[in-house]
Parts: sequence; C-alpha cells; structure tokens
Amino acid sequence: MNEIQARYASRSVPRYTSYPTAPHFRPGFPEVTYRSWLAELDPTRPISLYLHVPFCKQMCWYCGCNMKLASRYEPVAEYLEHLLDEIDLLAAALPGRMKVSHLHWGGGTPTVLTPEDMRRAMDRVWSHFDRMPDAEIAVECDPRTLTDEMAAEIGRLGFTRASFGVQEFDPEVQAAINRIQPPDMVAHVVDTLRAAGVAHINFDLIYGLPYQTEESLIETIELCGRMAPDRIALFGYAHVPWMAKNQRLIPEYALPDGAARQAQAEMAANALITHGYEAIGLDHFARPDDTLAIAAHEGRLHRNFQGYTTDCARALLGLGATSIGRTPGGYIQNISETGAWARAVSAGHLPVAKGIALTDDDRLRGRVIERLMCDGMVDTAAIAAACGKPADWCRDEMERLADFARDGLVMLEGSRVVLTESGRALSRVVASVFDAYLTRSEARHSVAV
Ligand code: SF4
Repeated sequence: MNEIQARYASRSVPRYTSYPTAPHFRPGFPEVTYRSWLAELDPTRPISLYLHVPFCKQMCWYCGCNMKLASRYEPVAEYLEHLLDEIDLLAAALPGRMKVSHLHWGGGTPTVLTPEDMRRAMDRVWSHFDRMPDAEIAVECDPRTLTDEMAAEIGRLGFTRASFGVQEFDPEVQAAINRIQPPDMVAHVVDTLRAAGVAHINFDLIYGLPYQTEESLIETIELCGRMAPDRIALFGYAHVPWMAKNQRLIPEYALPDGAARQAQAEMAANALITHGYEAIGLDHFARPDDTLAIAAHEGRLHRNFQGYTTDCARALLGLGATSIGRTPGGYIQNISETGAWARAVSAGHLPVAKGIALTDDDRLRGRVIERLMCDGMVDTAAIAAACGKPADWCRDEMERLADFARDGLVMLEGSRVVLTESGRALSRVVASVFDAYLTRSEARHSVAV
C-alpha cells in the first residue's frame, strides 16, 4: 500500500454489514410497522433467524459488543425464559409456519447457557419453524468456557457450524487483551465439536492488537492451520474507547501504528492464502470446498450483521436484546437493555427499539454497496435497471470515484466500478462513496484498515 492509499485507509467508514448502517436506525420505531412487515412475508419462502445472548463469563478488553458479565447463572436463566417467550411472540406475528434456512446464535457467548437450556431454546424454535434439510445452524463459542457436555449437546442438536474468537495465540498479547486461551485449549474444543458431529469450524483472528507483531501473527496462523478451520475471518482491532469503556484497559502505547496495522493485515492475508485459504471479500478466508468460497465463485455472496454469508433469505429475524433483523420493508433493532427488553416481552410486545423503513434509494444504494463489498465490482447501470432507475443515477458518485481511479483504487469501465488489488483492502472506503447518509452523519466509525 503506497502513501496515498494509506491516507484512504485512515478514513473512518462503516463496515457496511447493512445499508443504511445501524447508527441511522431511528429510535422509537413503531412496533406496529414491524408487525406489518412480518405479516407481509411470503410464508413459502425461507427465513433466517438470529438469536442473541448478551452474557459472557469474562470480559475481553478489546470487546466492542454490548455484553454483560454473568458471574451467576440466574440472570442468564431469566433471560432464557424471556427469549423463549419472544420466540412465541415472533412466530405468532408471522403469516404461517415458515422454513428456516439459516439459524445463528451470537453474543456475547451463547454457550453460557446450560446444555438443557440450549436444548429448550432449540426445541422452542423447531416447535414453530421447519428446519430446511440443508439449513446452516451455527453457534458462537468461547473456548475458555465451552464444556465437553455442551459440545456434545451442540452436536446432538444438529448444529452444523461453530465459530471461535481465536484472535491471537501469543501469550503477551492474550494477557494484554484479557483473553487467555492457549492453542491446546482451542484444539481440544475443536476436536470435541468435530467428534460430536459439528462439521464446520470458523475462527476469527484480529490484527492491530497490543504487542502484536507480524511474527506473532504468522505463528498464530501456523497454529490455526494445524486445526484446519473451514473459514477464518481476519479483522482489524477497532479501538473506540469513547464507545467501549473496557477498551481503556488496553495499553494504547502498545498498539501498532497505522503502517504496522497495514503490514500485519497484508502479511496475514498472504499467510492464509499460503495455507490454502481463498480470500473472500474484504476480510474472510475460506477453504476452496467451503460453501462461502463456492458462493463467492458463483456471485452468491451476501453480507449481513455476521459479515460475509451464504444466507440469501429475504428476511433475517432477530431475537434477544440488541438483536438486529431485516425484512424487505426495513431494518429493526431490539431494545438493548436486558431489563427493558424483558419487560417489553412480558407485556406481549415485540421488543422493538429502533428501525428504519427502506426507501427505493436505500435499496438501490444498498445493492451497489453489497456487490462492491462481496464481488469487488459492481455495474451501477445494471442494478439501476433492476430497480427501475435511470442509468445515470450516480453521476456525482462516479465523478468522485474518478479521484479513486487516479489513486489506483478502482477502475471505471463505463457504468462498472471494479476494485483494483489495492482497492480491495479499501472496499469500505470505495463503498462509502455511495452512502447517502455518511456525509450527514456524526457517528464515528473505525478506520478502514
Ligand atoms: S467473549 Fe466476545 S462478546 Fe464476550 S467479552 Fe469477549 S469479545 Fe466480548
């Protein structure tokens, strides 16, 4: 990356896991509107479900999630009862019994639930919904707290994928981020889950952590390679201590600077490719036989709040505090505060906090941004034609992209925008040109690389 491109990399831009992005969801969004969107869903088409558990047993200093520490099980058990009720409420608001193509448990740490409670939750889901034969059923796990009993239960419940925040194996880095999980511990849970029948494993790695070096990342990738996960997501640490107070415990003086972050990102990507992974979109890597790599080859990659996905369902319905859902009508976010969320559920409400109804312009821009992020190229005229818009709808944006072309980030071929090799790492910055909300936003985002 040259000096000009490094300047682009220092820009604060969204990750574009949705468009419009979450800071633009409107507070006080009417539950009645969400209910109308749910009632309008086509009952013959599959949907996806996302279930959120905002509890963890320990706090990682780098964490940017909305989570609560659970030193006792009682709050988790209470949360689970409300989650079961919310599943009932959501199912009752739908136009019929629907099929599920993807189901994802995220957090927090969903596996803080006891095996019995996880089974109760899954039984409740399948009492209302039909599981498609090839459905992906995924759960985020914490290697430090996943018990052998829970791993066995995850297998019995038919989960097809488990993901782990591995981040980095270097002991000094792990100490500085308060996440101690030696390679043997991670290898054990991976082996246990595979033995239980969970066919696919995902790892998350992070660069830009305190005390992290290119050497420590290479060693981490080497160790990961021996465990052979199907997918690896490689994220840059987003240091936003003004939003995540726990990040104030990160020693800022030990954070790599912008140039070191870029060098780590490039080196890690090359090392993953050397280990047989294919680069997918901005920050994912997958074995060539993984469904994500196959979808990328076939132009079927999508982006949602979990990052890159093969999920093509038109509706992703969120359950649990803070969860975000999407229907053809728009985006919805649940109440974040668990007490208020639980009270809303107890009162028989879908616990909506925020949302945004999509305009035709949002849909058009959202599709352009998604294709750029997923395919590294987009034909703005073809998408305009599919949306019934004139081909020159983005004349201003194309003029702005001329600067990006001069700086080597994109090639402009008529109505097509094609990311160059260096532009791929900066796809968030290129995509932001099409973001009509960004210029009027005061939200602070993380840097692009
Ligand atoms: S396990 Fe995940 S959600 Fe929980 S504190 Fe650590 S990073 Fe945050």
